[in-house]
Amino acid sequence: MEVAMLRAYKKAPFTVLEYGRCSWGACYFCGWGKKRANTTLEQLKAKYTRFLERHRGARVIKLFSSGSMIDPRQFPLDFTRWLVEEAKKAGVREIVIEGKSDDVTRENLEAVRVEGIKVTIAIGLEAADDIILKRYYKKNTGVADYIRAAELLREMGFGLRSYIIVNAHPVVYRNIEVQEEVLERTIALAGEYSDSIVVINAYPHQNTRLAIDWIEGRWRPLDKRQFYGLVGRVLSRLGARRVEEDLYEYEGIPVELDHSNFAFVPKIPRRLWTRIRGVGREILLHPHFEVWQDYFERFYEPPRGKEYALLLPCSYRKPYKKSKTHRAILSAISGYKWFPKLHLIVVSTPGVIPWEFHDRYPFTHYDWPEWMETEEVKRDYIQVTKERVKRYLRAHGGRYKLFFAYFHLESETLEAIRQAFQELGMEDKLVEVLDRETYEAIKRELGKERVGSSVVRHPLALERLRRVLKSYLEDTAGNTINASTSNG
Ligand code: SF4
Repeated sequence: MEVAMLRAYKKAPFTVLEYGRCSWGACYFCGWGKKRANTTLEQLKAKYTRFLERHRGARVIKLFSSGSMIDPRQFPLDFTRWLVEEAKKAGVREIVIEGKSDDVTRENLEAVRVEGIKVTIAIGLEAADDIILKRYYKKNTGVADYIRAAELLREMGFGLRSYIIVNAHPVVYRNIEVQEEVLERTIALAGEYSDSIVVINAYPHQNTRLAIDWIEGRWRPLDKRQFYGLVGRVLSRLGARRVEEDLYEYEGIPVELDHSNFAFVPKIPRRLWTRIRGVGREILLHPHFEVWQDYFERFYEPPRGKEYALLLPCSYRKPYKKSKTHRAILSAISGYKWFPKLHLIVVSTPGVIPWEFHDRYPFTHYDWPEWMETEEVKRDYIQVTKERVKRYLRAHGGRYKLFFAYFHLESETLEAIRQAFQELGMEDKLVEVLDRETYEAIKRELGKERVGSSVVRHPLALERLRRVLKSYLEDTAGNTINASTSNG
């Protein structure tokens, strides 16, 4: 098959038309099926009409519905038929709508069949294994239901697009060989009946047991590299041809790899929120912190245009932006032209926290009472924080020209950051902002032998922060230095 044809489904225009709720709604990994959409058919008609106006004459269009458009318990079938008729009038040659295999009946198919346009039903086969389907994925349909549906679709002239899910339960996550073997069988079966196949990476949808498994450490989503690696191995064993990183040809049909079908961030259900308070390893490695650190390392992308990182301490008051410390820091530097190039990143008990997330749970719900720290606790803190900083640097370090670290000089966090940069051989990318001279001047002014973490909001420290940033980011005329010339 030509590459353009293989890409036809993947590149096809699509729209989301959610209505009611999936009549099953119990699949282990699926959050969409648990939602009830509060849209009206009139709203959907208006949205769809606008969509069709933009895509008149399209070869294929795809409609997503979170459930089944051929299930009269969810969608009135005369509405689904109307969708098909309108697509035909707009010159569309093929329409893909979602359905469940138990809804593939003669009666339902007759109700949506329209002469002169191909109707393809996208069905979640998920895995060609009844034990996995029923016991773990909690599907209400099995392999035989899929085969029956596929044969009926073929007999009645409908198309079939098959969805296969990877890594959608802790049991398969723990047994990679089983996962590969089942995936191989599943693609082979889907290949016998389908016009196209989509292999989907399971992500932690909100309100699913799978998301709780992640939060509680029983399961982890596969990142892009792991997912492409696993599916690529299986497809090459099956003799599939790799067309692009996320597109293969198998038995003359396209197999699309969908590693991230929605942008997710960890969402810890409110009923599990807790105040994470105290010191020690158990606090540092709290599962709610761990899940976010995993996210920042493997799924997060730093914002575009942030060429420099400014590493900051946390504050007792949360969210940080409400604290005196962060208000003082922000008011000292936010007015400069180069400020938008700075990515603020807090490094603290929960780990590495890009500023965009600082007002989310659990970063608003922890306290680390420093006065309870022992030498052992400090050592643990440095060790855990260093490893987290290293993980962030390995994943994203190349995105930044320089890292400025603004901490008081006795800070364990600063020590952890130093060690992380040293161990990765990246010392030349780290600029420690506060120096001994400023520090001694502050101590003299305060008349104290030791100054605590609040030193970072002292006017002399803030002045030093401004000076250091300006020296790297501004030329003598006050213009922001082009990033490519600012490393020296
Ligand atoms: S995967 Fe499909 S059948 Fe299962 S709950 Fe989600 S929408 Fe419903």
